[in-house]
Amino acid sequence: CAAKQDIKKYTIYSNGLDKHNPHHLTMVGELRQAIENDELVLHFQPKINIQTRSISGVEALVRWQHPEHGFLPPDDFIPMAERTGLIKPLSIWVLNHALSQGEKWHQQNFKLSIAINLSPATFLDPELPNLIIGMLSLYDIPPNFVTLEITEGSMIKNPDLAMEILERLTSKGIKISIDDFGTGYSSLVYLKKMPASEVKIDKSFVTDMLKNDNDAVIVKSIIDLGHNLGLKVVAEGVEDKQTANYLKTLGCDLLQGYYFSKPLSSDDFLNWLPKN
Ligand code: C2E
Ligand code: MG
Ligand code: MG
Ligand code: MG
Repeated sequence: CAAKQDIKKYTIYSNGLDKHNPHHLTMVGELRQAIENDELVLHFQPKINIQTRSISGVEALVRWQHPEHGFLPPDDFIPMAERTGLIKPLSIWVLNHALSQGEKWHQQNFKLSIAINLSPATFLDPELPNLIIGMLSLYDIPPNFVTLEITEGSMIKNPDLAMEILERLTSKGIKISIDDFGTGYSSLVYLKKMPASEVKIDKSFVTDMLKNDNDAVIVKSIIDLGHNLGLKVVAEGVEDKQTANYLKTLGCDLLQGYYFSKPLSSDDFLNWLPKN
């Protein structure tokens, strides 16, 4: 049956991501072409302001519509892109498409913020600030509606360069979000110094926080820490109503997760919008 075959293919494919596997080179070539041929797709997941229940923005999440292997999640190809240098053209593709989609929504009067994920290698590219600032001039979307989600890893690798890049970007009004907070080498020194406006609690702490007391303590602590540093706090991986309510009582600002919506294609997202 077709489904079974797909699973089998998928397993082979996943193994192929190991760079010692003979499939690796094929995959690298395929990804390079996928970027050129627009086989990548962006999905968008809303960030909900829990106090007002309004949508404050969306996070753009890339997928690969592979002609043989089907729809592939980013964990199946972003690591390979990072190892091979394809992450730069991939990031440029994502930035262009996310900004273009943001511009369309703004023209339709949906004033949404667009969040884009950047790998450390992309973020620490000295050409990045000019690249992004140049791109922003091509799209009709105010810079303060653009958020870059970076991880603590971006700060650790080269703190001085990271600070320089952060300052250039934020001086133009671009917002910075610290993604997956709590899973990296969280240095409170960087957190204090960074000109970020938002911190996202990693979903590994959020999803089970009602069942796991330690997770709940970590979530509470990050919310307090973030607020004390003047940051908005986002919880990702909110899968049910009880967790959403609990996060609301803890004072978390924005919630993101399957309870509100899975990441959606731009068309599905537009259909989802007015009803909420
Ligand atoms: P992330 O930035 O932390 O994104 C959140 C991930 O959690 C997304 O997975 C999202 O679909 C998933 N998620 C959202 N709500 C829930 C929920 O309620 N429960 C659970 N279990 N999961 C939820 P996705 O789309 O597979 O992306 C995985 C990671 O890939 C992202 O993590 C991000 O680090 C990376 N990524 C995605 N798009 C890009 C991109 O354009 N560039 C780069 N460099 N990395 C990207
Ligand atoms: Mg993210
Ligand atoms: Mg995250
Ligand atoms: Mg993540």
